[in-house]
Amino acid sequence: CRVSDSSDSVISSGSESAEGQAVYKVVLLGEHGVGKSSLARIFGGVEEAHDAEEAGNTYDRSVMVDEEEASILLYDVWEQDNSPWLKEQCMKMGDAYIIVYSVTDKSSFEKASELRIQLRRARQSENIPIILVGNKSDLVRSREVSKDEGSACAVVFDCKFIETSASLHHNVLDLFQGIVRQIRLRRDTKEE
Ligand code: GDP
Ligand code: MG
Repeated sequence: CRVSDSSDSVISSGSESAEGQAVYKVVLLGEHGVGKSSLARIFGGVEEAHDAEEAGNTYDRSVMVDEEEASILLYDVWEQDNSPWLKEQCMKMGDAYIIVYSVTDKSSFEKASELRIQLRRARQSENIPIILVGNKSDLVRSREVSKDEGSACAVVFDCKFIETSASLHHNVLDLFQGIVRQIRLRRDTKEE
């Protein structure tokens, strides 16, 4: 199982960190060019885009959300290769998903709906947290998808919605905090 050179161990290491704390696997989905890797690099704290075209990366980071630490493994591997096997693994392995489109690209928005449907099919009985992300909100003049269309789509697909700009770092932290809150919400209701 090779998702990326540096992450073999990570993938097979189960879902607990050294401290016994839960590690949440979060998977980025979305069409090429929408900004998945840009968002992932901001999250991972490695912003120099020297390896911008590198196909697959995972980022391991702890974040404080509501005064509780959360460990996240963020997978930016959706485009790593075109094998149906990898795509299937992506659909199976996430504890949560971030489906990204670009607000400047209508077809990436349509693709996001397709991905949501695929995900629902792959994880039928599970109530997995999903956040729909409209990225590139800074590109005001080339916008093709309005904020209202984005949030309406999220309502239909029963997921959260946020617009981000990786370029301006706008809402990026909120996105990752949001995903942690979503995971905790499901976890807490399961325990009851
Ligand atoms: P990926 O293919 O989904 O991983 O997308 P990338 O992160 O590689 O980004 C594709 C291109 O869009 C790059 O040239 C990025 O610099 C650019 N990009 C990503 N996010 C934004 C954003 O929020 N605003 C603008 N203006 N450009 C962005
Ligand atoms: Mg990428």
